[in-house]
Amino acid sequence: MADCLFCKISKKEIPSSVVYEDDNIFAFNDINPKAPTHILVIPKKHISSVADKEAAAVVSDLFAVMKKLAEEKGIDKTGYRIIVNHGRDSGQAVAHLHFHLLGGRPLKWPPG
Ligand code: 5GP
Ligand code: ZN
Repeated sequence: MADCLFCKISKKEIPSSVVYEDDNIFAFNDINPKAPTHILVIPKKHISSVADKEAAAVVSDLFAVMKKLAEEKGIDKTGYRIIVNHGRDSGQAVAHLHFHLLGGRPLKWPPG
C-alpha cells in the first residue's frame, strides 16, 4: 500500500528503531512508548487489521516473534502484555495490522 505508514517503515523508506526482521515480519520500537519495552510487530504484507481475512494466516508467526523478543528483552520473566487494536473504539490509529508488545513495568488492568 503506497500510502501506508507501516508499509513504508517495513520497507525502510521511513526510519525506525528495528528490533527484528525476517522475510515476512518486521518489528520496531514504538515512537511513543507506553512502557520500557514497547515494540510493534507487523507483517510486511499490508493487512489492514486483525479483522482482515488475511490476518489469521500470519498471526501465529507474529506470536512466535513476540515470544522470542520478550525473552530477548527479559520481560518473559517479569510479564508482558500483547495488544491489538481494531477500529474506532479501540483507538486504532494505523490501518496496518500491528501487535503491541509491552512490558518492563507493572501494567494496569483493565486498560481504559
Ligand atoms: P494503534 O493506536 O494504531 O494501535 O497504534 C499505533 C502505534 O504506532 C502508536 O503506539 C504510535 O505511537 C505508533 N507510531 C505512530 N507513528 C509511528 C512512527 O512513525 N514510528 C514508530 N516507530 N511508531 C509510530
Ligand atoms: Zn501497510
